[in-house]
Amino acid sequence: MGRELPPAWGGRGATPGRRAVLIGGGAALLGGAVALAEGLSGRGAPGTGPRAPGRPDYADARWVAASTDNYRVADRPHDFRIEMVVVHVTQADYDTTVRLFEDPRHEAAAHYVVRQDGRVTQMIRELDVAFHAGNRWYNDHSVGIEHEGFVTRPRDFTDAMYAASARLTADVCRRYGVPVDRRHVIGHVEVPGTDHTDPGRFWDWPRYMRLVARARERDA
Ligand SMILES: [Zn+2]
Repeated sequence: MGRELPPAWGGRGATPGRRAVLIGGGAALLGGAVALAEGLSGRGAPGTGPRAPGRPDYADARWVAASTDNYRVADRPHDFRIEMVVVHVTQADYDTTVRLFEDPRHEAAAHYVVRQDGRVTQMIRELDVAFHAGNRWYNDHSVGIEHEGFVTRPRDFTDAMYAASARLTADVCRRYGVPVDRRHVIGHVEVPGTDHTDPGRFWDWPRYMRLVARARERDA
């Protein structure tokens, strides 16, 4: 993300009834998308496994489904090659971010959200196109990773977050043959046409890329 959230958000997802409906509805919709996609392609995407809710692409991730309005069903890497990872900062706390990605009105979501304590949540399958970069080509060809925090608060970028995110990015790079360099692991701010600034100047790119490279070597 990378912009301030509308102040109205705070109260919206908080109503228990509405939240329950939203989550249940999301699960049902996802089931429909599964049947549709598998009917169209006739097979699951090799390397990513079956399109089953609750089954993340990354072994250390927990699954929470985003609203199907926040991504497009696809069959990557067969229809679009995955060529990069886009790093984001949420400009919101973890719970708010997850609620936004579950909300069909948000019209955006990333594949992953990394919490400050290092927990990784997957919300969209990698074979699908998440609406996170604000640029059609970059959405089609990337995996988006959100990090819990604010671009103006360096303390938000914890050791645990860097370490967990680097392991995730290394795993994505390994599975799709994406080079571990700054042409292929980029910030949202580097996407052409964006007005977003995340991950911002406090994101420690040299450190992050070192951690990604180290994790990539370990798993080679
Ligand atoms: Zn962003």
